[in-house]
Amino acid sequence: MGKLNSKIPDGPLAQKWTNYKASVKLVNPANKKKLEIIVIGTGLSGAGASSALGELGYSVKTFCYQDSPRRAHSVAAQGGINAAKNYQSDGDSIYRLFYDMIKGGDFRAREANVYRAAEVSNEVIDHYTALGVPFARDYGGTLDTRSFGGVQVSRTFYSKGQTGQQCLLGAYSSLNRQIKKGNVTMYPRREMLDLVLIDGKARGIIARNLITGEIERHAAHAVVLASGGYGTIYYLSTLAVNSNASAAWKAHKKGALFANPSFVQIHPTSIPQLNEFQSKLTLMSESLRNDGRIWVPKTKGDKRPANEIPEEERDYYLERRYPTFGNLVPRDVASRAAKERCDAGYGVGETGLAVNLDFRDSIKKQGKKAIENKYGNLFDMYRDITGIDPYEEPMRIYPAGHYTMGGLWVDYELMTTIPGLYAVGEANFSDHGANRLGASSLMQASGDGYFILPNTISNFLSGEISIPKISTDKPEFVEAEKAAVDRLNKLVSIKGKQSAGSFHKRLGKIMWDYCGMIRNEEGLKKALVLINELKEEFWRDLNIPGTRDELNMELEKAGRVADYFELAQLLVTDALNRKESCGAHFREEFQTPDGEALRNDEEFAYVAAWEYAGEGKPHILHKEELKFTEVEMKVRSYK
Ligand SMILES: Cc1cc2nc3c(=O)[nH]c(=O)nc-3n(C[C@H](O)[C@H](O)[C@H](O)COP(=O)(O)OP(=O)(O)OC[C@H]3O[C@@H](n4cnc5c(N)ncnc54)[C@H](O)[C@@H]3O)c2cc1C
Repeated sequence: MGKLNSKIPDGPLAQKWTNYKASVKLVNPANKKKLEIIVIGTGLSGAGASSALGELGYSVKTFCYQDSPRRAHSVAAQGGINAAKNYQSDGDSIYRLFYDMIKGGDFRAREANVYRAAEVSNEVIDHYTALGVPFARDYGGTLDTRSFGGVQVSRTFYSKGQTGQQCLLGAYSSLNRQIKKGNVTMYPRREMLDLVLIDGKARGIIARNLITGEIERHAAHAVVLASGGYGTIYYLSTLAVNSNASAAWKAHKKGALFANPSFVQIHPTSIPQLNEFQSKLTLMSESLRNDGRIWVPKTKGDKRPANEIPEEERDYYLERRYPTFGNLVPRDVASRAAKERCDAGYGVGETGLAVNLDFRDSIKKQGKKAIENKYGNLFDMYRDITGIDPYEEPMRIYPAGHYTMGGLWVDYELMTTIPGLYAVGEANFSDHGANRLGASSLMQASGDGYFILPNTISNFLSGEISIPKISTDKPEFVEAEKAAVDRLNKLVSIKGKQSAGSFHKRLGKIMWDYCGMIRNEEGLKKALVLINELKEEFWRDLNIPGTRDELNMELEKAGRVADYFELAQLLVTDALNRKESCGAHFREEFQTPDGEALRNDEEFAYVAAWEYAGEGKPHILHKEELKFTEVEMKVRSYK
């Protein structure tokens, strides 16, 4: 594998994207129809890419494992979507959004891509508004905004606490328009099992029809992965339970480098785990930190009900430690601070693994109605799950696995290291460095899908116009299908005693204990041993009822868990390699005397891009050095 070429265009940062678009090779409209593109995923990035590519005139085939594209995980996003519109005239700008993201990510993202993400953010908001997304409006009728962590401006557009759902409905309607026009063919309830390469280029996929079990071959001139993140590697997470890494992992094993896998965001405000049987955690949006104040009792082990603890006996520890940003510090900082308080014995609730998120003061100041207008559905959700009314008592919250900054390495064009294979949205290693700021994912996923990929993909496809429709009878398809079927047969034939879910749960616990919010060398080395032992047990004692030729959800789960074992090994290896703390990656050995992350820019200002070297062989590390020309690499402080 040669040196990584990130293909950053020349010119000043603010001109790169404009210059790129003005000079990129185009595909003539008559040729577009002849070119086929496969898109895996129908979240905001996939639905956006499919509809924009369809609108351009390409022949698009779109896949998702849900019964409807509008059930993609993006539907769950709550708090909002960022854009540098500066409607509040509070000093926001494209540069400031870019700077906040670079700083928020602890200087571990590529400048040019981040600037472009900030640049297209405004187009994204205009586009969704045109699609009819009902963003909240202020009294004067213009779009309203609120603040999210790690910033001092108000740039987050929202639809109550269901921004993802409303945006996805907009994206889904534009996707449907293209389906109706015949430009997009939709394949729901399909799972991509493998990527097919012909002469080193991505030319198709092997998929399983999840209803019938039938194995299908699909060919195209290019493949786009919009398959989401891998936060469910922790088993308990805020993600949809079916979210998984298999599409990206299969591409990785075919040659796409995997970047920064250990950069995983732990979200500070999830509803804490209630019992051992739970299979998912529920997020309480970061937007709540606009009006909710986080605190624990000043006395260790104080078990009085929250409302009986007087003001002077409450420790608003974020406001105390970080007076400038207070409750709106970024997620990594807020998560570690909650863990620190709970580990020190100040946690609340039966388990002591929770802190209070209290709306008493805001309700007093703004009235219950105002709080209900902003967060009503989140409050209802909290009450339905816990039985506690958050208008009357503080919410209890605790950090949980949430978002993965790591993913497939992509260049400026969002192309992976496999020619013709692109990754967009959460599936790529993206623009968020070592820590994503709130409300920047919907922005990035939508920007990638609607505005960036449709421009960059023509650079590759313009060289493919002489390639006729690709036949799925080619030996590469036959071989890939055989390998996929062999693997399914192998999983079904183990006939052991334990379910895929039980292995997933145990893997998740190892990951959470040794490679979660805080990591150290000893724990990471132990995790590698434990993961390996569990992986061997999985391949010895897995039980899958039924066959592969039918609807078989246990088989689906098993395939994803099998991939998670391999990804977990790489994730831990990456965390071991990065001997520094940055963003969400906190190595205990590398911290300042007051417990903040201690970066090592001399040795680690790079993207770690890992190459698969074959079964049982160690991954090979490639480094993309990060050069900052527009910003100074400073210590990230929110004090
Ligand atoms: C609870 C929660 C709340 C959030 N709130 C916010 C927020 O307020 N603001 C914000 O900016 N971000 C938020 N995020 C993050 C954000 O929702 C996601 O990062 C983003 O929606 C990801 O979009 P995507 O298009 O990349 O992928 P997804 O929406 O995850 O879609 C993945 C798609 O890929 C398909 N797929 C995957 N694998 C396969 C396969 N093998 N075969 C076929 N299809 C496959 C799936 O079917 C699905 O259609 C939140 C995340 C969570 C968990």
